[in-house]
Amino acid sequence: MDEYDLLVVGSANADLVIGVERRPAAGETVLGSDLAVHPGGKGANQAVAAARLGARTALLARVGDDAHGRLLLDAQRAAGVDPVGVLVGGAPTGVALITVDPSGDNSIVVSPGANGRLTPEDVRAAAGLFQASRVVSAQLEVPLETVVEAVRHLAPGSRFVLNPSPPRPLPRELLEACDPLIVNEHEAKVILAGADGSGADVGEDPQGWARALLALGPRSVVVTLGAEGALVAWPERVVRVPSVTVDAVDTTGAGDAFTAALACRLGAGASLQEAARYAARVGAVAVTRHGAQESYPTAAEVDAL
Ligand code: ADP
Repeated sequence: MDEYDLLVVGSANADLVIGVERRPAAGETVLGSDLAVHPGGKGANQAVAAARLGARTALLARVGDDAHGRLLLDAQRAAGVDPVGVLVGGAPTGVALITVDPSGDNSIVVSPGANGRLTPEDVRAAAGLFQASRVVSAQLEVPLETVVEAVRHLAPGSRFVLNPSPPRPLPRELLEACDPLIVNEHEAKVILAGADGSGADVGEDPQGWARALLALGPRSVVVTLGAEGALVAWPERVVRVPSVTVDAVDTTGAGDAFTAALACRLGAGASLQEAARYAARVGAVAVTRHGAQESYPTAAEVDAL
């Protein structure tokens, strides 16, 4: 079962970015910079990050039969991802319309498009890809039922990694498959607050979040803490993984790079703690560069850090 170190199941979006002096209010028109179009979406980002690190990577995703879809496919191929699982058609490619002002504050409208049409049936039709993969990773920019179906097709002995972004309460079946569940502060809080339906305050202690998340069923949990690094937690213990001190210029896509790097180190046989240390180094390189996919390092660049 080891044609691929990593199979990513997830989204692919074109990010359409315009710089503005001021973001428009309702009914207002403002002039902006030239349009920049970047390949993005959490699934596509993870696949590119893993392939650039040298992992044998496949992506199960859906794009439209349009120019944005071709841009995304080209970016996957250029990074070395096997695009055999990228389905084409059914709706326009997903798009994020982003306006960003000089202070860096942005406003974003997402049209999920084809991402919303990646179905459980598409997962069943790709069963062979699952059987050929050591690790499967997913996020939540495609329908939740599609991600739940994915964990039903894991090969024996393979591993499932979930970054539940954008966060929402998760079914027990999905949580129990995670090894690890990888969350940032915001994702931890949303999942914990929704878990008992109470929306209760879950406090400010990352170790407490990790323990509370483990109680929901995952075999392990990683809490990413930006420049503070990450926590790795199992039912019996919690360890802190330090970050690498760098001059951060753009944290876009750092979480995707972290998740991908961790997943592909697991695929190469590393322990979860080793994989998280490596992922912290990859995340650190990614934040020293602008953009998401454009910022992802090769293994040699990580070693040079
Ligand atoms: P997300 O992008 O999902 O919010 P984080 O901001 O926690 O995720 O970043 C993911 C990982 O990237 C962190 O755990 C850390 O390893 C690395 N990272 C993020 N920001 C920095 C930073 N300013 N300096 C060094 N490493 C960083």
